Amino acid sequence: MAEKPHMNLVFIGHVDHGKSTSVGRMLADTGNVDAYLIEKYRKMAEETGKATFEFAWVMDSLKEERDRGVTIDVAHKKFNTDKYYFTVIDAPGHRDFVKNMITGTSQADAAVLVVSAVEGPQAQTREHLFLAFTLGVRQLIIGLNKMDAVKWSEEKYNEAKGEVEKLLKLTGYKDVPVIPYSAYTGDNATKRSENMPWYKGPTILEALNNLKEPAKATELPLRLPVQDVYTITGIGTVPVGRVECGVLKPDTKVIFEPSHVVGEVKSIEMHHEQLPQAIPGDNVGFNVRGIAKNDVRRGDVAGPVDNPPTVAKSFKAQVMVLNHPSVITVGYTPVFHCHTMQIACTFVELLAKLDPATGSVKEENPQFLKTGDAAIVRIQPSRPMVIEKAKEFPQLGRFAIRDMGQTVAAGVCLDVEK
Ligand code: GDP
Repeated sequence: MAEKPHMNLVFIGHVDHGKSTSVGRMLADTGNVDAYLIEKYRKMAEETGKATFEFAWVMDSLKEERDRGVTIDVAHKKFNTDKYYFTVIDAPGHRDFVKNMITGTSQADAAVLVVSAVEGPQAQTREHLFLAFTLGVRQLIIGLNKMDAVKWSEEKYNEAKGEVEKLLKLTGYKDVPVIPYSAYTGDNATKRSENMPWYKGPTILEALNNLKEPAKATELPLRLPVQDVYTITGIGTVPVGRVECGVLKPDTKVIFEPSHVVGEVKSIEMHHEQLPQAIPGDNVGFNVRGIAKNDVRRGDVAGPVDNPPTVAKSFKAQVMVLNHPSVITVGYTPVFHCHTMQIACTFVELLAKLDPATGSVKEENPQFLKTGDAAIVRIQPSRPMVIEKAKEFPQLGRFAIRDMGQTVAAGVCLDVEK
């Protein structure tokens, strides 16, 4: 039997709209009850004293599972449907979500935006929607949660749906289902609700199955950011990293930028096994002839000699300020995290302040930026770095900006000055 494709899924949305409960519901209803409990306890620990959730139905289904002798994957928040294996990426807090999206090991292929039907879209609904789109999450499902709390009202659904659709128009998402459900009771989560006969669209589970299989970025030129470099006796220099796009093949030459050295790939290994080639998503070590250990370092990116990774003198970027204690002005020099690189970069120009939702210019050449602002800026790295236009190489065009131990902003590269 052919393996099901894998998808990384993230649940986003305003605090208390039911992300955690929804993840739990999907895990539990697809046979991962222990994983569900772990999620619930994590959440409870996080907000001690605030847990109000009803556990009885979980305990019942847990016992049922055990009686049936079903093995349960407790370590990971994974579930599978008829069509896909899903891994739920943790997004416990807003800032963590942003940081994981950019620097984490897992890029979300799709997002479920959870919106409470009681409150309708709120500030973080808007912000997450905008960020998900900016950061390259290509597919979206909108769940209007807590329908039980509005007595399964079609009118309430239409009202909230109208509001989210207004927001959707401001992004580039197309064909997004807006699904009325209740994470609490399970209506329209994995089973069709009898309480909402007026709704004819898909359940959350059906919408997940309807997602398009994520395209592997094999057609793009090779980009492999180096995480580490080893010298292995009898083999030689072995850089290690994950293929972000393109294909890495033995007996081909690669160039490492910005170190600007060329070597020939001799062999590729993953999990102690030789690979005939490495494709996007593969974490590999590869032996390169013609380079010494000190010729390359973390933050270098390997690419084809005839289409080398772009080394930026400066770059134009769209940033969103998430959490800055004061204001960002020209001259501000925090640390940028971009692929495997951490590097001090300076804001050299504030070109325009944008409306965070529409992306249209609100103010030219602003004096400063503060939390909540979206802007076009010019950035200058303190030494040469590889960054690509996000439109061409999504994985290499995103960055998080960290300062004082926090993610203060996130952004994407629009243009590079070489
Ligand atoms: P998160 O902050 O978005 O992860 O939200 P939670 O999953 O922690 O849910 C916030 C609160 O809303 C909790 O008290 C949940 O029990 C409650 N809640 C979540 N989903 C539903 C639902 O479908 N119906 C009702 N009535 N309450 C819900």
